[in-house]
Amino acid sequence: MPAEEVFIGIGSNIGDSIIIVEEAIDAIGNIQQCKLRGRSSLYRSTALGDIPQDDYINAVVKLETGLEPLQLLLELQAIEHAYYRKRDSEPRWGPRTLDLDIILFGNRVFEDSHLRLPHPEFSQRPFVLVPMFEIGGDRFVPGFGSLSYLIQQAPELAMEKLEANDA
Ligand code: ADP
Ligand code: MG
Repeated sequence: MPAEEVFIGIGSNIGDSIIIVEEAIDAIGNIQQCKLRGRSSLYRSTALGDIPQDDYINAVVKLETGLEPLQLLLELQAIEHAYYRKRDSEPRWGPRTLDLDIILFGNRVFEDSHLRLPHPEFSQRPFVLVPMFEIGGDRFVPGFGSLSYLIQQAPELAMEKLEANDA
């Protein structure tokens, strides 16, 4: 299988978010033609935007996959739907049971109405950048720069790493 390295960002702030994120990591590892190659710790972060809502639990996983990006997106959306995420009725930036975003898909740059690669906001999101750094080291993202540089220039956001026994 011709494999590409993919990073997926996971977020939840409704329900039992720690359990939901852990289950989502297992579900991602079980997608056809996908092998889990790394997972970050869980992080708790303050929600972005103006809608008052609970803190998020976030994590990032690294995969190797033989799927094409749009096939992987469909698989991730099926997992989101299994957690009753009603995409059409939710305001953008509003609370969600489970959000799965493709952050990087190899070095591919892609844009259509369903998918943009790299993820359009990853470079401004500490809750994506910091867990990526934890599992992937200080990689260089073409067109953006090194993760350490991106972490330095991203907006400040209250965020803490959860220790294993916090869960
Ligand atoms: P967000 O993740 O930006 O808060 P949603 O999860 O509701 O918002 O995503 C809205 C749409 O973003 C999805 O329907 C999906 O088609 C599209 N999308 C574009 N690029 C990506 C990507 N890299 N990963 C996941 N979804 C994406
Ligand atoms: Mg999303």
